[in-house]
Amino acid sequence: PKTAYVRTKPHLNIGTMGHVDHGKTTLTAAITKVLSERGGAVYTPFGRIDRAPEEAARGITINIAHIEYETGTRHYAHVDMPGHADYIKNMVTGAAQLDGAILVVSALDGIMPQTAEHVLLARQVGVDHIVVALNKADAADGELTDLVELEVRELLTRHGYGGDAAPVVRVSGLGALGGDPRWSAQIEALLDAVDTYVPTPVRYTDAPFLLPVENVLTITGRGTVVTGAVERGTVRVGDRVAVLGPDTETVVTGLETFGKPMDLAQAGDNVAVLLRGLPRDAVRRGHVVAEPGSVVPGRRFTARVYLLSAAEGGRTTPVATGYRPQFYLRTADVVGDVDLGASALARPGETVAMTVGLGRDVPLESGLGFAIREGGRTVGAGTVTEVL
Ligand code: GDP
Ligand code: MG
Repeated sequence: PKTAYVRTKPHLNIGTMGHVDHGKTTLTAAITKVLSERGGAVYTPFGRIDRAPEEAARGITINIAHIEYETGTRHYAHVDMPGHADYIKNMVTGAAQLDGAILVVSALDGIMPQTAEHVLLARQVGVDHIVVALNKADAADGELTDLVELEVRELLTRHGYGGDAAPVVRVSGLGALGGDPRWSAQIEALLDAVDTYVPTPVRYTDAPFLLPVENVLTITGRGTVVTGAVERGTVRVGDRVAVLGPDTETVVTGLETFGKPMDLAQAGDNVAVLLRGLPRDAVRRGHVVAEPGSVVPGRRFTARVYLLSAAEGGRTTPVATGYRPQFYLRTADVVGDVDLGASALARPGETVAMTVGLGRDVPLESGLGFAIREGGRTVGAGTVTEVL
């Protein structure tokens, strides 16, 4: 029998972000190596992280590795992704729900385009705390590293992260992986910074249960399993739940986190939920599992939307009523019609009010954040103001 998950420490979701080749995956492997030496992790080598299985559903393919580890005070689920597109998809769809992020910047290269984009993206999706890993410190000279540190602090400040206060730790993922005690100690210093600088989030455990479905699997002989991060509330084995998408009700017959069974899952937990008698093809990424009656699917709403400027990777031309981009709400990806009402045009860089009519029903509520994408890139970020 598998050992049950024992909740002894607060659980947080974090992840590495940053420009390709700056050392995110090497650092992730190094963290598991250093922590494995004191029993806080299972060492996960580079190749196992970088070849994470693809999650393909609804035409969105995301490569993502979920790694579990523990420091002295906390339990973490850490995500690492191979490509820039994987970050965009994962962060804007809310699949990551990061409580904090480790921004990896190579001291040899400094800030690169994806470094800046990931910081902007983190701001848009509500990641409030960033710790910086100034990587490749083994190979960079000290003065250059000082300059890169200044540059990173400025970047953070420009995006409202208080760059002066943010911890910046000089690390070498490669050195720590190789067992160099000097660099292993810096990994410990980085983890200490994450432990102390990223606050334990206030979880909405008292709210009705809601889980946006990220992925669907079949366990032979047991049935259909949905995975994702619990957005709010708690759920126990035996609870009755609504599955919104197929709009049906069923019972939770099993709960697991990182392969360990649990009796109760709560907001913030990454879980696999076994659902009684649900056909595999009835549920997909983008659907929601929730306490029955607690959420109402809809398709029309008003919203406040910030259209990214061209410099931020947004459109170069204005949008008008009749514009039909993709809306990413939680893990759902739905086409929608935009009505700007009296204002004829909305320009990149502006914040505007709009009415949206989605192509299908999804669970909606005021305050829900979403991203607007077209042609594979994010062009806007918004919040639902009223469900119509
Ligand atoms: P990612 O794309 O951000 O995940 O970067 P990787 O972890 O795949 O690393 C990219 C390259 O940088 C690889 O060749 C690594 O060996 C190298 N690298 C990663 N970390 C370090 C480091 O701390 N020092 C040095 N010198 N090279 C590193
Ligand atoms: Mg990588």
